[in-house]
Amino acid sequence: MKAIGEWIRKATRQVLDPDREERLNEVVSLLYRDMQSAGEKFSLAQFKKECGYTDHDVELAKRRIYQTLLVRAWQDRKVTAAEQKTLEWVVTRLHIPRAEATQLHHLAARECFAKSLSCAMDDGALSGEEALQLEQIAMSVGMSLGEFVRMYFQNEGEDYLRGIFAACAEGGVLADDAWSRLAAATKRLGLSRRDLLSAVKVQAERLIEHVLADAKSDGELSESEERVLKKLITTFELDSESANYIKKSIAALQTIRNARRGKLPSLERPTGIAVRSGEIVHYHSPATWMQKRILKSGEQWDQHVGTVTITDNRLLFSSDTKSFDVRFGKIVSHNGATGIVRIQRMEKPESYIRVEEDEPIAYSIFEGSLALSNQTRLSQQDGAPMRHIPRDVRQRVWQRYGGRCAECSANQYLEFDHVIPVAKGGSNTDANVQLLCRKCNLKKSDLI
Ligand SMILES: [Zn+2]
Repeated sequence: MKAIGEWIRKATRQVLDPDREERLNEVVSLLYRDMQSAGEKFSLAQFKKECGYTDHDVELAKRRIYQTLLVRAWQDRKVTAAEQKTLEWVVTRLHIPRAEATQLHHLAARECFAKSLSCAMDDGALSGEEALQLEQIAMSVGMSLGEFVRMYFQNEGEDYLRGIFAACAEGGVLADDAWSRLAAATKRLGLSRRDLLSAVKVQAERLIEHVLADAKSDGELSESEERVLKKLITTFELDSESANYIKKSIAALQTIRNARRGKLPSLERPTGIAVRSGEIVHYHSPATWMQKRILKSGEQWDQHVGTVTITDNRLLFSSDTKSFDVRFGKIVSHNGATGIVRIQRMEKPESYIRVEEDEPIAYSIFEGSLALSNQTRLSQQDGAPMRHIPRDVRQRVWQRYGGRCAECSANQYLEFDHVIPVAKGGSNTDANVQLLCRKCNLKKSDLI
């Protein structure tokens, strides 16, 4: 808003006073020449009286001269004692208010500091010599490095740390050495670890979401991904809410990994579900059954809200309106997407069961139970290997959506999604892969 306001003011001034810029340049060069030739005898009041320009123009010209001299003095990234003396002289002679002069000086110092810092950090590290150069800049405005950095960091410095962090975390991987160099540089600049962590907090969370989405994309949490995630929680000293979210996601992905390897959880018998003695319960969750019925008038879908239970030999759906159970042997094909299991029973229309779980564990447990019980492969229309999205595609898709849901811009619970499902002939290409949050992905699945 501030920038727009300034722009409007500037544009209006130019419309009302089109020759202003040219005239101002004249005042600047006249005033500067007069100061140089008169030396100690220079008087601002005298100049104002004789030059014939408005006070306003002269005031503007004064500041321009001071700023030009500042830029010139700072060109070699330090202000020498001689330069300092000249600047002082100009401030006094031109009657520039002290506070304003200091502010302009600090502004120039900050700009210079930013340039030097980014040069110094080009290689990702801050050497002792480079730190010394920065200290010189701080001393030029009468501050210690620590004081200066703290002042600087209240303004654009945090953006700067974030910028370096973004480079460290490129491609969803936090390079170990890059992070430790950044931490070392932060320390050398006289900032605390807290300063660094709070500056990069949001980005750190984005990085974690990226690693999580990557892990979810093939439903497999590799051991290295798990290590990375656990390390990030400690490195960034995340608060309990974020840490819990990640731990929950890790646990869910671990369950999926184990299910794929035939290691299935065994649960307590859920109350109210007719489980036979000796039957092992692997999964139980609130669920909605979308029942397809073929009527004379056409297809009809009924929804029943209840629970789904997966045991070592069947799947049970139970609700107040309608229940069914199916032995694994009677299932002829199945596939799973986000939180949805599609089952084709012998001589029955297809069924969809949507679970209310946060993570897509239902299908992997279902698959694992089925495989263990049948010891055979069923026809799988949307098998895991086909769903696998290559890493470079994931990378580009993540960039394209800036780590946000394509539908609602949410930045948590993100998943890579096939626009056209693999089962329907969709491919693993950039154009067919998008980033969706869990909620939007579920909504999309509803539209099957
Ligand atoms: Zn969304």
